[in-house]
Amino acid sequence: MKYDVVVAGAGAAGISCAWNCARAGLKTLLIEKNLHCGGLMTSGLVIPVMKLNSLNINTDFFEALINAASAQNACHTYSDGNRAWFNPEIIKSVFDSMLQDVSCDILYLVSTRDIAITDYGFSLDLITDVNLLSLRIDTKHLVDGTGDGKIFEKLNLEFLKDNSEKQSTSMRFLMSGVDCKKFADWICEIDSDRNVTTSCEVNGQTHFSTAYTWDTNRTWALKPYFEAAIADGTLVDTDSAYFQIFTVAGMKDAVAFNCPRLLPPQKPASDEAFELSQQIIEGRKRINRIAAFCNKYLNGFENAYVSNISDMLGVRETRRIKPKKVFTVADIESGIKPENIALASDYPIDVHSDKKDGGELKFTKHIWYLPLEALISEKYDNLFAVGRCLGAEFRAQAAVRTQMNCFSMGEAVAKHIASKING
Ligand SMILES: Cc1cc2nc3c(=O)[nH]c(=O)nc-3n(C[C@H](O)[C@H](O)[C@H](O)COP(=O)(O)OP(=O)(O)OC[C@H]3O[C@@H](n4cnc5c(N)ncnc54)[C@H](O)[C@@H]3O)c2cc1C
Repeated sequence: MKYDVVVAGAGAAGISCAWNCARAGLKTLLIEKNLHCGGLMTSGLVIPVMKLNSLNINTDFFEALINAASAQNACHTYSDGNRAWFNPEIIKSVFDSMLQDVSCDILYLVSTRDIAITDYGFSLDLITDVNLLSLRIDTKHLVDGTGDGKIFEKLNLEFLKDNSEKQSTSMRFLMSGVDCKKFADWICEIDSDRNVTTSCEVNGQTHFSTAYTWDTNRTWALKPYFEAAIADGTLVDTDSAYFQIFTVAGMKDAVAFNCPRLLPPQKPASDEAFELSQQIIEGRKRINRIAAFCNKYLNGFENAYVSNISDMLGVRETRRIKPKKVFTVADIESGIKPENIALASDYPIDVHSDKKDGGELKFTKHIWYLPLEALISEKYDNLFAVGRCLGAEFRAQAAVRTQMNCFSMGEAVAKHIASKING
């Protein structure tokens, strides 16, 4: 089978790229190792999408997604104007319909065994997970939307290596059975200066967001409750590293948790692979403790229970590809407009650290721009990376990795490929 474009990985970046390519009339295949689209948005329970004030370039996919999701009751608009409070379950079929509407071929549950460089472009040797069927796919253009640069790795290409630190990883989860009105009334009262708390009514339902971290550089309304829970053994100190909660569109009594952080185990494992698994096991224990804390200390959570633990690890950054032009912190700080703009954003450099007071949240007062060349392989003009594995410095990636930006990266590459093919 021959394609103009194959996109590997159906996260925010990959799905936007595939949808835009197919919409432009290119013969497009989207391959995904999971059984639905969304990546961190769905499997990772990363909801809601962060609001960006200034994004206005390459947003066709986002606008189409909002329209399609609104029609299926899979999103709502929050009081700050953020339209992207998605429901992580219903959005899966919204993605399917959008791809079908533009005649994009989809292969779920496939793995890539091998990739060869050919005169046509690339030849992919795929295998289906369920019935172990082999497929050979040829494509002129190949897009890595795997989040971790797995296609570049298969092609033995090098990655950027400029970070001495790593972003911390989180394991998100949902609690259901929450009395959202009771909690919202209570948290708005104790966080009366609205330091970190927001709340609003949407379609007759109460929604909210609030947070607490163990960082000492600001005041937190929930601090006394965390301190009491640590003192009585409900929580251990590291459970309090980062706590952030949001209500969920279309789930009346559910709350999404942007935590716990997976912190390095106290006794270091002898091998990194084993250490990660230890962290995952500890993450689930941590979720149980946080749930017990919510039941005991948070008004409205008395009868709440853990209803979903993400089946995709919340990894913020792993590998970044070597591109034609590396996106740098200097690009963010200067706000210089490159010739070929992939996206415009005002999102801050946002490094989540595993150390107390170790994180960074650095805002700029201006809009900054990502050059398209940060998404094109240094070595091959027909090979691209979109999403969190783009060609960016570590701290620059920490600003550009949000979902809205990932949508735009996918769209920018799709439009570039379409202009090469269609003229
Ligand atoms: C804990 C956490 C909290 C965050 N909070 C926010 C937030 O509040 N708001 C916000 O906007 N952003 C947030 N982000 C950032 C944002 O969610 C991610 O950067 C973004 O979703 C990444 O999208 P992506 O398409 O690059 O990759 P992913 O979402 O990781 O998608 C990659 C896809 O590729 C698939 N895949 C992997 N390997 C293969 C393969 N070999 N073949 C085929 N398919 C493959 C995966 O199954 C997955 O579907 C957060 C991230 C994390 C981890």
